[in-house]
Amino acid sequence: MERRSFIKKAGAGIAAAVGAGLALRPRRARAAKTYNWKMVTTWPPHFPVLGESADLIAEWVEEMSDGRIKITVYGGGELVPPLGVFDAVSSGTVEMGHGAAYYWAGKHAATQFFAAVPFGFNAQSQNAWIYCGGGQELWDEVYAKFNLKGFLAGNTGVQMGGWFNKEINTIEDLKGLKMRIPGLGGKVLAKAGGNAILVAGGEIYTNLDRGVIDATEWVGPYHDNKMGFYKAAKYYYYPGWHEPGTSLECMVNKQKFEALPKDLQAIIVAACYRSNMWSLSEFEAQNNKYLKELVEKHNVQLRQFPDGVLRDLKKIAHETLDEIANNDPLTRKVYDSFLTFQKTMNQWNRISEEPYQKFKEL
Ligand code: CA
Repeated sequence: MERRSFIKKAGAGIAAAVGAGLALRPRRARAAKTYNWKMVTTWPPHFPVLGESADLIAEWVEEMSDGRIKITVYGGGELVPPLGVFDAVSSGTVEMGHGAAYYWAGKHAATQFFAAVPFGFNAQSQNAWIYCGGGQELWDEVYAKFNLKGFLAGNTGVQMGGWFNKEINTIEDLKGLKMRIPGLGGKVLAKAGGNAILVAGGEIYTNLDRGVIDATEWVGPYHDNKMGFYKAAKYYYYPGWHEPGTSLECMVNKQKFEALPKDLQAIIVAACYRSNMWSLSEFEAQNNKYLKELVEKHNVQLRQFPDGVLRDLKKIAHETLDEIANNDPLTRKVYDSFLTFQKTMNQWNRISEEPYQKFKEL
């Protein structure tokens, strides 16, 4: 149909519709296919900040798509077990998942770099690497092996070092310690002589309280306060050397994602970006308030890891990362990109963030 004749006919159609008293509706609304999707998560249902991020992604996607995608969010265990998220999305049993990529270290070692690396990136550098430094392309390469597409969907900021019932004065104090600590941090602890135990969020408090584990890390003051760890452990250590800026992820089954119209794909991407910013902002805004509450109201003993302990852990972390990378070419490729970017970030931070830090005190 020639353009002019199309416009003429379209014009006639509109005139007829208006003449018939019909309200004009956007073309999209007539043609829209709706999608009813499921999102499984590693978090207990509606878990503060972490589970809420998943709920918000669903809410924002529905709002932005004018109801064309409805996502039902399931807490860990409601549809699949918390650590069954990866397989459920990979196989297409459900369309989406929400968690943190280091939970999938057993699927592929490289997944861990897209969540947290001991002595690695803070939130700002992690975002810079993934969004603008080649990280997303590598993540796509790793996840394509599993028919998945991963997106950043949150960040905790620098975490705390964890909850202990004894002081940690030297690396020797970690020997034999049964600690809930996931991912690469767990591997470092194990190499330092401790026992790293992976426990899903909902079960940590009970394990700590009953002495099944001696220590745990979780996130930071805001979330740790909600988890009630102060009732089961006395010392609260910082900094979170093992998780200096942990990313949450939203994963989508790759085939289902690619089968979506382009505008709906863009809506999912936009909701993940928004969630990434929202959860970091929420943690940053709340952490200090709850740290004060833990110390002043609950008499938690705040402790900084001695420099010597951090130096030893950092040395072990680099050995651990090198070993993991040497086991597999794709992990090596991801780690090399990570290291190169970290060097660049460190050089830039030495003349941007670091000199400023000294003078920002009021
Ligand atoms: Ca943690």
